[in-house]
Amino acid sequence: MIPKTAQLLQIPSSQIQETMEEKPQKRDKNRQKQLTGTLRNADELLQQLALPAYLLAPAQAASTHFSMRVPDAWLARIKTGDLDDPLLRQILPTAEELKSPDDFSTDPVGDQEARVVPGLLHKYQGRVLLMTTGACAIHCRYCFRRHYPYADDNFLTQLPAILDYIRADSSIHEIILSGGDPLSLSNGRLASLFQKIQTISHIKRLRIHTRTPVALPGRIDEGLLKLLQTIKLQTVIVIHCNHPNELDERVLETLSDMRKCGLTLLNQSVLLKGVNDNVDTLVHLSERLFSAGVLAYYLHQLDRVKGAQHFEVEDAKAIALYEVLRQRLPGYLLPKLVREQRGAGAKTPL
Ligand SMILES: *Cc1c(COP(=O)(O)O)cnc(C)c1O
Ligand code: SF4
Repeated sequence: MIPKTAQLLQIPSSQIQETMEEKPQKRDKNRQKQLTGTLRNADELLQQLALPAYLLAPAQAASTHFSMRVPDAWLARIKTGDLDDPLLRQILPTAEELKSPDDFSTDPVGDQEARVVPGLLHKYQGRVLLMTTGACAIHCRYCFRRHYPYADDNFLTQLPAILDYIRADSSIHEIILSGGDPLSLSNGRLASLFQKIQTISHIKRLRIHTRTPVALPGRIDEGLLKLLQTIKLQTVIVIHCNHPNELDERVLETLSDMRKCGLTLLNQSVLLKGVNDNVDTLVHLSERLFSAGVLAYYLHQLDRVKGAQHFEVEDAKAIALYEVLRQRLPGYLLPKLVREQRGAGAKTPL
């Protein structure tokens, strides 16, 4: 039998054995009533949210390119019947995704050029990025890696070669776990990865880029929290949250639990038309994040990936909006407005 959590997280069958070997975690009572199911069917989504049937055909057509994936915990934060709900917009496949302007690409930031070993991107000085898995708790329609050929990387088989590359370059001080979402991996798999990373003496910091604490807080179980506490490297978790409605009480509680593990928590957002392209939303987002111990890190201009053009906010509007944001927020709550540019050795400020 495939363990339920593995099914939920779509953990590839090659990784399931390890998940099965883990002892069942003792869980808090208040963690038991968590929403851990996932919706993958547009029909069901429209029914549950009382949305009009005309959305179905385009949703199904767009999902054939990039499948729909919505955790119940996310669904519960969407207002029924509201087509403009900012959380709905991030997950509902639409007809607009099927248009593909020529200046939008399948690899907008040049991931393939930076891929020094399958599963390892080395673009920035001192830092490397590991493509740990293609799996995510949620599928965000604007995702810049929605076309990434994860299947070509096979992280597990490549891991020895990846570690050899890192060992051989002592200018690398920080390892960034990315994907996909690294917290889609089982606790056992993560433990073994942390262990291996810690044996490389020039690695000073570990960073984990993840949307899971926001999208599927139930995944941050006691076992994972314990594991995070055991990491010997300085560890930074960069969560991904775009709108204050994503931060319900359950998510804030999860983030606070993670803070108590001695981790630094940062947030990156993408500036998205019709989702968070107004000052009040962004002010509220920074403040709400900070209430759970998370600092605003980046506000990204959209990466021009095919299928996401309708989310783009023009530079002039982004800059004007940012000017007002700067007036409204203390410096430590102001994210950096940046763009990721193909071939550039760092994020470019706007
Ligand atoms: C964004 C990014 C990083 C990290 O950049 P920071 O400015 O350190 O947050 C590293 N590697 C890649 C490929 C990136 O896209
Ligand atoms: S969680 Fe991140 S990697 Fe996964 S679909 Fe969303 S934006 Fe893309």
